[in-house]
Amino acid sequence: MPHPCLSCGACCAFYRVSFHWSEAEPALGGVVPPELTVALRSHERAMRGTASGTPRCVALDAEIGRYSRCSIHPVRPQPCRDVPASLEFGEPSRQCDNARVAHGLPPLTSADWIWREAAANDRDGNPDDDDAPNDGGTPPPPALPPPIAA
Ligand code: SF4
Ligand code: SF4
Repeated sequence: MPHPCLSCGACCAFYRVSFHWSEAEPALGGVVPPELTVALRSHERAMRGTASGTPRCVALDAEIGRYSRCSIHPVRPQPCRDVPASLEFGEPSRQCDNARVAHGLPPLTSADWIWREAAANDRDGNPDDDDAPNDGGTPPPPALPPPIAA
């Protein structure tokens, strides 16, 4: 099962994505493409498209609820990195839930992450065989050496 964000994109079309202007200032090490941003308040810029009444980030390549891709993922601004997908790491995310509900999608549940647990438990890269669960428990004892002939 793919990561749920790859078939969602709701948060990129729901919130105003604003951040300190320096994130889009190459001279200061900012990596967000400035042409994809607009000035907001004196010390802030926003991702273009997200400061309107019907936000949708210009960098979003998505059909919400079907497929989704951030076209500037490696250089997206900090607020995008800060929104966790609900329950991905155990905690619910109100930002994620609210955005999904606003787009007619159900909030994520722990069932949406079962594939990830299965992947974590797959010790040999073969998802079809029967690996022991990687639950941090005591590993099995090593095999005994063969008996020494008298
Ligand atoms: S709303 Fe949640 S599931 Fe959807 S893209 Fe954003 S973080 Fe991912
Ligand atoms: S920069 Fe990428 S992650 Fe951030 S709102 Fe836009 S599409 Fe979404």
